[in-house]
This record gives sequence, C-alpha cells and structure tokens, in this order.
Amino acid sequence: MALKESEAIVLRTYPLREADLLVTLFTRLEGKVHAVARSAKKSKRRFGGALEPLTYVRAYYEDRERQELARLDSCDVLESPLADEVSYSRAIALEHVAELLDELLPDREANDAVFRLTLSVLAQMQHEAFWMPITYFELWMTRLMGYLPELSECIVCGRELNGDRAFFHALADGLMCLDDKRLASSEISAESRAIAAQMFRAPVESFTGASWPRSSASDLRKFLLQTLQRHIEKKLVTAGMLEKM
Ligand SMILES: [Zn+2]
Repeated sequence: MALKESEAIVLRTYPLREADLLVTLFTRLEGKVHAVARSAKKSKRRFGGALEPLTYVRAYYEDRERQELARLDSCDVLESPLADEVSYSRAIALEHVAELLDELLPDREANDAVFRLTLSVLAQMQHEAFWMPITYFELWMTRLMGYLPELSECIVCGRELNGDRAFFHALADGLMCLDDKRLASSEISAESRAIAAQMFRAPVESFTGASWPRSSASDLRKFLLQTLQRHIEKKLVTAGMLEKM
C-alpha cells in the first residue's frame, strides 16, 4: 500500500515485543492513527528523538491489508517540546495535553481545528508557565468536542447569568443560577467566566505575559474536567496529578 505523509503529533508510545514500539499519532491527514514502529528502539536513523510524547513530526506511514495497525516508516522532527529542559510539573502538563487528545479524539477522523489548537497551545508551553495554556486547551477541547453549552445562561431556566452567581455540578453540562443549582454544586466565579469568554474570542498568544498562578481560573478547569470526564466516562490520570501539584 502507498506510503502516506502527514504532519503529526506523537501522543503515546508503548513497548511492543523486543525492539518495536506501538505509537499513537494525531495526524493532520486523518486524525488519530495507531502504528507499529519496527525496531524503533534500535533505529536512531529512522526515529531519533521523534517518538517522545508531544513531538511535532512529519510522519511517513502505510496501512497494511487487513491490519488495524499501520506501519510507521519514519518520522522527522519539526518541533520538540524537549528542546527546553522539562521539569516534572511541565512533563505532567504536557502529558495532560496528550491524554486529552488520546481520550477525546476518535480514530481516523481528521480534525484540523484541534490540530491547530494543539500546535498553538504547545508553542505556549515552552516554559514553566503552563496553567494558562492548559486552561485554554481544556476550554477549547470541551467546546470543539461539542460538550460545552452556552456559559452565559442558566441551563435550567435560561436566565442570563451575567453579573449573577453561577454554579456547576458533576452530573450536568453547563452552569446553573442560584435558584436552580443542585445539591453539592460548586461555584464558578464571575472572573473565571469572563476569562472563558475572552478565551473564546482571542488566540492563546494574546494571554501570554500576564501572571497566571495555579489559582487563576482553577474553578473553570474543575468545571471543564468534570464535563470531559463525564463524557468519556473515566477519570483522567493527569487530572489527578495536576491536582496534587
Ligand atoms: Zn436558573
């Protein structure tokens, strides 16, 4: 079968047999693709450092007849997140992006909006200040997956929430007003809702420069992760790790 060429982001690798690796790629051409990289652990020439998670590569691969797994021929590095030193916390943040993509994207379905979002967010994660790009990524992924209703109104009564208090619950999409909030709801601040509204209007680059401690929009991230985890029906491993950081 013909060799395909596509820009791709490496999501995960797993050891497979002695020298092979099973690689999950998010390709621009056809979305998430699982492929076997034969002798990847030995072949520096074909893969070098290209199979580290979240490396942006040009991948060459081919489908095999009656086989679910493609064969990864080679990868050229276009941009590596390992160019800078990777601390433990930054590694977790990068792993979070990879896990969200791996869990949320279906196999073999191109999604250029998500591809472009990922590249722009990764470019902002070069350094330690990653809470802003993480927040931006979670927000846009929730919207692009179709899990996010309008945040400016109560999902129960439809009332405008602008200026009023707003609440969310682990078992509901969207926000609720004070009258309609469920038991054991959490509150999301007006400030965090304003940040979300700004993030829907502006590219991620426009938020750099401002100081973004972990506490910034933490209620928004909690709401987004609850929403995402409910839809995929599992806990995200990296959500727990980020929480403990
Ligand atoms: Zn209401």
